[in-house]
Amino acid sequence: MSATAVAPWIAAQTRQLLAQRGHAWLLAGPSGLGQYSLALALVRAWLCEHPSSPGACGTCGSCHAIDVRTHADLCVLMPETVMLELGWPLSEKAQADIDDKKRKASKEIRVDAMRDAVEFSQRTSARGRGKAVLVFPAERMNNITANALLKTLEEPPGDVKFVLASDAAHQLLPTIRSRCLGHSMVWPDTEAALAWLEGQGIAPAQARVLLRAAGGRPEDALLFSQSGPTGSHAQAWVNLPKAMARGDVSALKDWTPAQAVDALHKLCHDVLAVKTGASPRFFEAADLPAGGSVATLTAWAKALAAATRTVEHPFNPGLMLEALVSQAQNAVSEKTNLYSSSVVTKTHSAFPLSVGLASINDLCLPIPTVI
Ligand SMILES: [Zn+2]
Repeated sequence: MSATAVAPWIAAQTRQLLAQRGHAWLLAGPSGLGQYSLALALVRAWLCEHPSSPGACGTCGSCHAIDVRTHADLCVLMPETVMLELGWPLSEKAQADIDDKKRKASKEIRVDAMRDAVEFSQRTSARGRGKAVLVFPAERMNNITANALLKTLEEPPGDVKFVLASDAAHQLLPTIRSRCLGHSMVWPDTEAALAWLEGQGIAPAQARVLLRAAGGRPEDALLFSQSGPTGSHAQAWVNLPKAMARGDVSALKDWTPAQAVDALHKLCHDVLAVKTGASPRFFEAADLPAGGSVATLTAWAKALAAATRTVEHPFNPGLMLEALVSQAQNAVSEKTNLYSSSVVTKTHSAFPLSVGLASINDLCLPIPTVI
């Protein structure tokens, strides 16, 4: 990432944090607000040969080494899946294991990687400007890795600084949180976020739709737009409520099952919000169907929450999407709402959507535990 690509609200927070002392920061807040970008801007500034109050110079050997992912004094601790997404190299052994298909890339921060990080923090700085450890997303440490990090945080070897970034800081060990200075990520205002998205090459009308779809989180909006053909997600988002009312499965064809469940969750939220007199957050009010009863919509929300837990491992993604759309159609269509009829409600009185929920879970495999 070059210095010029940093969003203005990230630049402002970088300046603010650099003005304070601290050897360990915990950046916390919901996803999509730039936790990783801010963490990277901090470590670039810490290790830069010519830092200034706004941060790293962007041109020195240290900045260049970070840009090409080969800085000897920077240790990046991430799940392997995230490292691959963000272009960080894995250790030789980890890469060989994955290439040889001995195992898949881990979704957690592995114990091996943490051991390497502890050893790294005890070494002498190669470039003489101290060392930095970046942990992201920090909640992906299990108890063993978190305890190993805790020991290093409690007795930092001197010239090493830490930055932990997390979308779910409440899941971290309290002892880790208490060893760090906390920083709550700042929400950018809408106009600044739209200007930034347009600067990333997104057309203005699409930027507005995508930012709304992402609940105002600009980096999530950018990721969403990049995960499909240009402009396709914005158009699909606008069309989604009516497509679900029609039971049109093709509306979700460009989305992963996880994106589909997330989108339906947001649709459910907005239909419920309007039903109870509040404003929608993710869609335009004019695009939303009236929806079934509050009880039906609440049951749909519960079913979607259950689907979220297994959506990463669908046994048959096509069938799963069909089940999700059928469930959505029943919940958002006022007149064709099967579950609101008294006969069906009697049959499934405790949980009207339990049939749909069971059928979706039947199509999923349990989530494996990766250590
Ligand atoms: Zn520099």
